[in-house]
Amino acid sequence: MLPLHRIVVPTPYAVGPVNAYLIASRPYTLVDPGPDTGEAREVLQKELNRLGVPLAEIERILLTHFHSDHSGLAHWIHSLTGAKIYIHPYDLKKLSGKNDFIEERMPFIQEAGTPAEIIAEVLKDGDKLPRPFVPPGGAITTTDGVEIPFERGSLKALHLPGHATGHLCFYDPAGKSLISGDFLLPRITPNPFLEPDPVHPDRRAPSLRHYLQGLDRLTSMDIRRVWPGHGEVIDDYRQVVAMVREQHQARFDALVDLLRKYGRRTAFELSRLLYPDLKGFNIFLGLSEVQAHLDVLVEEGRVKVEKKDGVAYYFLVNI
Ligand SMILES: [Zn+2]
Ligand SMILES: [Zn+2]
Repeated sequence: MLPLHRIVVPTPYAVGPVNAYLIASRPYTLVDPGPDTGEAREVLQKELNRLGVPLAEIERILLTHFHSDHSGLAHWIHSLTGAKIYIHPYDLKKLSGKNDFIEERMPFIQEAGTPAEIIAEVLKDGDKLPRPFVPPGGAITTTDGVEIPFERGSLKALHLPGHATGHLCFYDPAGKSLISGDFLLPRITPNPFLEPDPVHPDRRAPSLRHYLQGLDRLTSMDIRRVWPGHGEVIDDYRQVVAMVREQHQARFDALVDLLRKYGRRTAFELSRLLYPDLKGFNIFLGLSEVQAHLDVLVEEGRVKVEKKDGVAYYFLVNI
């Protein structure tokens, strides 16, 4: 069983602090070091000193996914210690330092019928922190099933897309522990992010279908404790999975009700009906949530979609 220590690292984001994890067995490894802020650097250094493994001794960094609250400090630690950064190839591509989060999704945001002034509002509310990046030669690409050895055990990488196309979780078979990143969180359902499909970038990734399939995979496993990317450790993960499934079911039902009531609507219109109070970047998050659910409803044949002038309109089948 690997010695795992949770380090609560502050972030400037609405999600609150992020959990970094130290695995205190050689090679000393940090999972998701946190965002690139002075405050996060200070807290991380202080906590590592307290745990008896100073930052200078970190030999390896594992990233669950590319989001800056998790990945931002990886390049800094790599530059200090030479620690290699383990990451899924799909998310490594997003960490070249050049990728613009909203620009990459713009064709989908426009197809969803988002008005220009709303796009401007979302763009204005972009990430204030430097873009996270992995320096050339700094990464070791890590795919599903890869074993990561330690002096006192091992971790197995699990590719569980849905929140990010390259999302990894790390499983310790001896301790039956899962480091879940943002795939499973104690109180909130992770956003099934609107992203280009890594294989066919002109299409949307089937985020929510992959996510729900990943939940099935988790429930087929033997997991005693989940160490999430935000919040407290989870002891009864099946209960959390059930809660997450219920919340998604409620969103499917709410969208079907809205389509029954209002008829043909764009994904953007539905997102405003479902989440009328969102502002700035959160408008994108609401749209992402709605689009993911619509994509599953279309796959299931319950909803149809028709495009007109580049905008997709959704409507219920058999009404
Ligand atoms: Zn995330
Ligand atoms: Zn996160």
